[in-house]
Amino acid sequence: MRFAIFTRALQSGNRRKLSPQLFSAFSRSFSQLHSQSKRPSFGIAFDIDGVILLGHTPIGGSPIALKRLYQNSGDLRIPYIFLTNGGGFRESKRASELSELLDVNIQPSQVVQGHSPFKQLVKRYESEFIVAVGKGEPAAVMSDYGFKNVLSIDDYASHFDGIDPLAQYKKWAIKPASNENSSFKETTSSIYSQRVQAAFVVSDSVDWSRDIQVLCDILRTGGLPGREIGHQPHLYFASDDLEYQASFPSERLGMGAFRTALEAVFNRIHHNPLEYTSFGKPNPLVFQNAETVLKQLLSSLHPNAPAVNQSTPESHHFKTLYMVGDNPSVDIKGARQAGRPWFSILTRTGVFKGKENHAEFPADLVVDTVEEAVDYILEKECPQ
Ligand SMILES: [Mg+2]
Repeated sequence: MRFAIFTRALQSGNRRKLSPQLFSAFSRSFSQLHSQSKRPSFGIAFDIDGVILLGHTPIGGSPIALKRLYQNSGDLRIPYIFLTNGGGFRESKRASELSELLDVNIQPSQVVQGHSPFKQLVKRYESEFIVAVGKGEPAAVMSDYGFKNVLSIDDYASHFDGIDPLAQYKKWAIKPASNENSSFKETTSSIYSQRVQAAFVVSDSVDWSRDIQVLCDILRTGGLPGREIGHQPHLYFASDDLEYQASFPSERLGMGAFRTALEAVFNRIHHNPLEYTSFGKPNPLVFQNAETVLKQLLSSLHPNAPAVNQSTPESHHFKTLYMVGDNPSVDIKGARQAGRPWFSILTRTGVFKGKENHAEFPADLVVDTVEEAVDYILEKECPQ
């Protein structure tokens, strides 16, 4: 109502007839309404481990910080995503888990995990036989992306008697119930003769000794364990973090550590060095993809608002994209390499614990917590 009166006053040239107080109040209302309908010119990408959560516990005031990115109604106000090298579960499952832990409504499209770029390889391996490695539900993740012929390394290894000579000592190892029936035997014979075309390390390996053994078998033999040496199938890693911060006080070994171990062993037992492709931060492609995802999110928030430069969501340009992370060699290095419009913010709640900035990969800003990071961003982008 106030907005309508103010507009009419302006249209009829009565602007000077408004009292200064009334004019100022109308101005504020107008600018608030105007800013709500205009696309924000910035977006935010948050790392999860060591910034938002430690294990399953929110840290650094993360629930309060995230709530500030929503309207009072609970609708998303500021475009933001989670950009994590972690994974093992479908984006939809991770989004609902994060929504519960952080008490805000998070959409699957706001969760970009280390393995999310594997979607781009569906065309190449859609019907090929592939093996998925890692904690959680690696095969379900890949099936969800569209890969039609995928087995988890747990299932795959269970078809090969004696492939893991230590299995009998592993109290957690459970053989599938179907082991005894005839269909399992039929499947086993087809698994034996099917060449593995690629292996995907989707999330952190749970059983390094078994996974290094079975991957060496697959990779040395051209995808047919127990057979002769063959051409190495493709190997993909969702990320290459040497370490990450979880609930334990010091950092834990990540997928990069597993890759190092596999590579060291493989290169000792095979004549050709291991060939592989790693995704995840700090790979610049991850930051390009994050920008695209944020653009799409922004256009879904403001479907009718005109873009700053062009009319398609892809052509909208952000003035600033904030990367909030705890790991200088992953989050900050990646944002620095990606260049403008990325602006890096380093928190002290995870891997980085220094007083000053990081020496090798200095961030644009260092703060104690994610709450401070969001305060800074909102003060800069949405001054009251
Ligand atoms: Mg982290």
